[in-house]
Amino acid sequence: MKNIMLLIALLLSACSSGPKIAFDANSVTPYQNNILKVPVRLHLFRLKHEPNLNANMTNQQLEKLFAEVNLIWRSAGIEFYVESAYEKPLRYEQDYLDAIHNQDDYSDRELFEEIRRACDIPRQNNKVLNLCIPKRMTINIGGLFLPGNNPKVVWPIAMHKGKKPFNPATLAHEIGHFLGLTHSREEEIFLMRGRGNNIKRHGKYDQIKLLDSEILIARNQARQFTTLKK
Ligand SMILES: [Zn+2]
Repeated sequence: MKNIMLLIALLLSACSSGPKIAFDANSVTPYQNNILKVPVRLHLFRLKHEPNLNANMTNQQLEKLFAEVNLIWRSAGIEFYVESAYEKPLRYEQDYLDAIHNQDDYSDRELFEEIRRACDIPRQNNKVLNLCIPKRMTINIGGLFLPGNNPKVVWPIAMHKGKKPFNPATLAHEIGHFLGLTHSREEEIFLMRGRGNNIKRHGKYDQIKLLDSEILIARNQARQFTTLKK
């Protein structure tokens, strides 16, 4: 692989054990003794020409991010941990930059296509959840799930204009798609209520809900990753 693996032993050990979060009695779930652990492989954007658009995350930010995603998913008894982190050079860097800088000249469909191409991951390992992390999206949405032979989640550190803070609720929602869930028509606090609602769940990580039927589907999907657990 051309990608340079970032051997962050500290990060791996920190994330695999997971930050300690105290739950009250009400948050005890039927799955607490049968937690499925899903490895996540990070692909962080690296740009030759505009390194200010590199996706940089500190260990502390990553720990916080995964603690919040895991808090959202705790009722399903599914935990996510960083398996490894790669730097991702862009094959079509100039196209990505053109889309970022000239958003108004592109249709939504074209902007979507540019972020999809930028997140192309050759020789992808399908035994992990591949997470493509740009610093900024081309299209002004908070995250994406790209299905197909190389399914992956795309989640930006910031929105297109770089103004909105990163939103773990959006990442948790896109992971829901990765685990086979579709949009629900439940109230806003339900994780799989569709596009435009993730921002409303920002910061409410201990209240976000999943349907029992969604939990069953997601656990079935998650099970295929857990054999790799160290
Ligand atoms: Zn969605």
